[in-house]
Amino acid sequence: MIKRVTIAWAAALLAATSACAGAQETAPGAPVSPEIRALHERLLVLDSHLDSPMHFGRVGWDITQRHSEAGDGTQLDLPRMVEGGLDGGFFVIYMPQGELTPQGYANSFADALRRAAAIHQTVARHDDAMMIATTSADARAAQAAGKRAVFISMENGYPLGQDLSRLALFHGLGVRMAGPVHSRTNQLADSATGEATWGGFSPLGRQWLAEMNRLGMIVDGSHSSDATFDQMIAWSKAPIVLSHSGSKTIFDHKRNIDDARMKTLAEHGGVILVNSVFLGPVNFGGEFGDVLDAMDHVEDLAPADQAALIARRTALMEAKPPITDSFDDFMRALLHCIDVAGVDHVGIGADWDGGGGVAGMKDVSQLPRITAALKAAGYGDDDIAKIWGGNLMRVLDAVEQTAESSK
Ligand SMILES: [Zn+2]
Repeated sequence: MIKRVTIAWAAALLAATSACAGAQETAPGAPVSPEIRALHERLLVLDSHLDSPMHFGRVGWDITQRHSEAGDGTQLDLPRMVEGGLDGGFFVIYMPQGELTPQGYANSFADALRRAAAIHQTVARHDDAMMIATTSADARAAQAAGKRAVFISMENGYPLGQDLSRLALFHGLGVRMAGPVHSRTNQLADSATGEATWGGFSPLGRQWLAEMNRLGMIVDGSHSSDATFDQMIAWSKAPIVLSHSGSKTIFDHKRNIDDARMKTLAEHGGVILVNSVFLGPVNFGGEFGDVLDAMDHVEDLAPADQAALIARRTALMEAKPPITDSFDDFMRALLHCIDVAGVDHVGIGADWDGGGGVAGMKDVSQLPRITAALKAAGYGDDDIAKIWGGNLMRVLDAVEQTAESSK
């Protein structure tokens, strides 16, 4: 009995090993066929929400080296972007929210400027491999040159305080996408997971929306309450996006959107970029929540303290995984969004380095699996191109044109 099991197990292992070896010759990272790999390489592959800049300022952290999530808590670096065929995306200036006071705003503004500088410094230091992108033409030029396109976005309008002229300053620093809120309601709008203080946007938030349109920045409704989202749709002169959101039909969570709103988003030319978080129950509370909060400030920790924090994070994730979803769960959500919104209105925003990743796709090196799964689901190369970047770039073009035409 034991022997038979052992033989079967050994045969399975051999088969798996040879499959892996074959795949590795053509596709480092994800085990996909050479045909899928070639298609994936041809496409402009972008993700709309990369939280990785929180690691850029970490002492001793080098984006040109291959890291691992278990090793230092990261899911993206240049080697893994190359392995995963990820041509670029929107790198986020994410700011956690403190008190809605002049000092709170001032501190967050300073931190946001530091984060913007960290993104520019990282690109400047590695300009042979990366470039700042602000237009769809930049993204295509980067791909043609074999460089990674670094768009910049802002998650949370908290650092703007009461001073909307800061939005033009961030636009000048290359920011081309922003959302008004994160997990708590602030001076601009109600959050999906916060108090319904304003019934959508605050008066200042309504001005924020107009200024976003005037400057030519993509309005991001992820983390916004349903009322805030509805007002974005009603008041924005340009299409909007949900940079990392999912479907309430797949999993009923405040961070996900219902099918009727998803359809409305599409009717207004917008795009939902599908998240790999909130596909099912998540547990970001308790001790793990404390670790996540500490991760927001990881760049300020000494190397030994960073290592201790990562070790604690890894131990907690192993003891009680905060997310138990699989790659199949992610694909189920993606295909549902395509069914509801249409193939012209869906993209990928998996929340890498922000809580994203599922079993079978734990970092950006595994992205070719999505191309393979879309192909297997019957989608053509042109449709897959739209999903991977075409739709997002169409919105960027439209937002830019709206700003130009209102000058
Ligand atoms: Zn987020």
